[in-house]
Amino acid sequence: MAQNIKRPNGTEDVLPKDIHKWYTVEKIARETAESFGFSEIRIPTFENTDLFLRSVGETTDVVQKEMYTVKAKETEFTLRPEGTAGTIRAMLQNGLLNEALPQRVFYILSCFRHERPQAGRLREFHQFGLEMAGSQSPAADAEVISLAKTILDRLEIKNIELYINSIGCPTCRAKYHEALRAYFEARKGELCETCQDRLAKNPMRILDCKSPICQDIGKDAPLILDYLCEDCSDHFEKLKKYLTNLGIEYKVNPKIVRGLDYYTKTVFEFVTTEIGAQGTVCGGGRYDGLVEQLGGQHTPALGFGMGIERLLLVMDKQNCAYLSPRKCDLYLATMGDAALEKAMELAKQLREYGLYAEYDLMGRGIKAQMKYANKIGASFTIVLGDNELNEKKAMIKDMEKGEETEILLDDKFVGNFEAVYFNKMMDVLDEPQIMGASNNPVEVK
Ligand code: ATP
Ligand code: MG
Repeated sequence: MAQNIKRPNGTEDVLPKDIHKWYTVEKIARETAESFGFSEIRIPTFENTDLFLRSVGETTDVVQKEMYTVKAKETEFTLRPEGTAGTIRAMLQNGLLNEALPQRVFYILSCFRHERPQAGRLREFHQFGLEMAGSQSPAADAEVISLAKTILDRLEIKNIELYINSIGCPTCRAKYHEALRAYFEARKGELCETCQDRLAKNPMRILDCKSPICQDIGKDAPLILDYLCEDCSDHFEKLKKYLTNLGIEYKVNPKIVRGLDYYTKTVFEFVTTEIGAQGTVCGGGRYDGLVEQLGGQHTPALGFGMGIERLLLVMDKQNCAYLSPRKCDLYLATMGDAALEKAMELAKQLREYGLYAEYDLMGRGIKAQMKYANKIGASFTIVLGDNELNEKKAMIKDMEKGEETEILLDDKFVGNFEAVYFNKMMDVLDEPQIMGASNNPVEVK
């Protein structure tokens, strides 16, 4: 017998039973971004490899160890390891940066990184991310951080800390690199091979190395915050003031350097300790040099990426509310061919009205059909047989309450059903409701 083919390591299937969780995150993230003036962009899954070498950086873990590069015929491509490079490439290529600034886009996409798979660390994962191009003001940094925070709040994620840092600009970075080189030179022999190479090319990368030995050696390394130029320092001070004004709590963590080379000035992470080691659910920052690096005019920009799988791990752990999965509004149980034809006709009308209706496609007996209706959680059921068809009326059953009412099978059937449905909704409204922002998800775990 042929062997079953399994999915590749580090990938996940999202099953129908869990899709409402994804819809919840996507809907809230999308609506929040829109309320801040961002519009959606969709970019290719793969790009020319050079794009990532020039943006993410040749000495980063992502480029050195994690990229999926494929040779297709004569050309080489790389599956996107993140969303920023492709988005900026698309903004440049389509002239978006010549239009009214700031340009603001968001995206929901899959990313590919060859990492060691573990909880919260996959080889194909999904990000909600966004980029804002054109503003050099620290108010833009505060805006983007506030947007991320709003999403996390609307998802009702708790116990999450915001860490911010500034990693300066090329001017302050030059002096800082010198200081780092001097520091690491003394213990060069103990660094991992990759970091020995980084020492000459990009010593700040050593601070982001995952090797415990490199991390230990880097413990007392000089801090970038002590090397900021006046402009960068002023930018950072203003950002902190704006965050405080907005009531957003933060901690300055001078050790955050981020894993991608394009960052300048502000970097930030939202971190939780509740899902193990992979607790960074959102990472981002400013990248004022990237647009120029990719061939455009100097355009300050910034953004962030949120790992959707990690968000869902936290939300599951914290029992956060999700949007309800779609439930069948009316299940039409049928006895005989004429009833089946009638059910088809009625279901068509209900669906045209946007309702979810089902009838038997398996040739089941009436008892089994009702069992099935129960299993899929139908709100109402109706049984159609010759009698009902002759009399042009049937009993409709509220599955939750077990109550039955008569309903006419006339040409106003959808309206008749709507009336029954409406009564049920009014009953629900009579019960105490939890008030909250209209975007907040409701009920169901
Ligand atoms: P980490 O330090 O955890 O490796 P990173 O700095 O590589 O994260 P970014 O490139 O900033 O992460 O990506 C933004 C977000 O995407 C992360 O904060 C995280 O939530 C998510 N993410 C990154 N890599 C993975 C992965 N391999 N699997 C699942 N989510 C990921
Ligand atoms: Mg990483």
